[in-house]
Amino acid sequence: MSELSVNHLLGIKYLCKEDLQLIFETADHFKEVINRSIKKVPSLRDITIANLFFENSTRTKLSFELAEKRLSADVVNFSAASSSVKKGETLIDTVNNILSMKVDMVIMRHPNPGASVFLSQHVDSAIINAGDGAHEHPTQALLDSYSIREKLGEVAGKKIVIVGDILHSRVALSNIFALKLQGAEVKVCGPKTLLPKHIESLGIKVETNLQKALEWCDVANMLRVQNERMEISYFPSTREYVQQFGVNKKLLDSLSKEIVIMHPGPINRGVEITSDVADSQHSIILNQVENGVAVRMAVIYLLASKIKN
Ligand code: ASP
Repeated sequence: MSELSVNHLLGIKYLCKEDLQLIFETADHFKEVINRSIKKVPSLRDITIANLFFENSTRTKLSFELAEKRLSADVVNFSAASSSVKKGETLIDTVNNILSMKVDMVIMRHPNPGASVFLSQHVDSAIINAGDGAHEHPTQALLDSYSIREKLGEVAGKKIVIVGDILHSRVALSNIFALKLQGAEVKVCGPKTLLPKHIESLGIKVETNLQKALEWCDVANMLRVQNERMEISYFPSTREYVQQFGVNKKLLDSLSKEIVIMHPGPINRGVEITSDVADSQHSIILNQVENGVAVRMAVIYLLASKIKN
């Protein structure tokens, strides 16, 4: 396959296995580029990209911007505090702004699930979802799979446990879709209150005992508790959460094998993982960040090639 099956990246659920393969092979090339002394290619000199961030972001925004600049695209940025965003009203505003800016591609983060799908139905630009509420975060799942592939050779047949706040996590859903598409075995682990009902219907298993989950897996993807998406308390106290679902070095050392630790960031050190785990040889957290730029370059490049054709 030489081009993506989609014109937008709205979610992993719209992709096929071959799309993932093409993105990873293209990212291999860009990873080599960003490690050269001249880290830039002229590929997208005629493309204008708007980054629209209606919700806070550090890594993702920087990573997209760097990816765009490494590809020589023209970039415009728009950020809005999530508190000022009103559903519908803001998206219509967004549509009108984009139409008048005549941009080729829009990267959007928005607190409302489905916001990027809505946008793709109303503007001609290619849309990349940089996180829509608790729904999907496709580029995060792509860079996570890319990092597993880099560390363990392949994703197929590997055992991955996603630990923590599955209920409010867009990273969890996109990862489940991506890992299943590639033939990995997936479990989720967390407090029952933070596991969506019927999550097994996605073809995954639930394990509420962290020690057992870690004994089973090759890779543990540790998620942050999404306090900003919670209106009520889902567990008694942070201390209790840490005791049951936090990973520390002692716990890792007690396992019968070495496992890989991932985290999408931002880390709450001492909550989902301790500092000695985050900074240990088990952790590929900084590799994930580096790979994020290469994977985003690949996605932008492949979608831009479809605009040009
Ligand atoms: N950075 C990820 C996201 O935007 C994970 C997190 O915020 O915990 O979803």
